Amino acid sequence: MNKATLKFNNGNGALLCSGCRVILKEMLAVDENSELEEQYCDECINTNLSEQEWIELITEKCAQYNGGKHQRVGQAYMNALFKVNKRLYEIISGTNNDCFYDDDKIINFIRFCNK
Ligand SMILES: [Zn+2]
Repeated sequence: MNKATLKFNNGNGALLCSGCRVILKEMLAVDENSELEEQYCDECINTNLSEQEWIELITEKCAQYNGGKHQRVGQAYMNALFKVNKRLYEIISGTNNDCFYDDDKIINFIRFCNK
């Protein structure tokens, strides 16, 4: 699980969207060591790939993967997403759905893009 994005101002905490960093809610009783899970605003949580983008993603992923000579599958998916939908890439990047460094997260990546 990824930790929530928090912001502190004069001792007051706020929970931010882990995608676009908009304030989701003020949180008075929270500290920097909080174990809250990451959360997203409605706009970020509803960002999916369209059918056309899925076709482009798979095509681009295959081009990037090139038989595994240069990239792992997870890397190829993330690099393909960067080209196809940069906004979704930025939302996913660095979260538990980011499969760039870990192919075991590819299933998270696919679920998030298709939620
Ligand atoms: Zn957001």
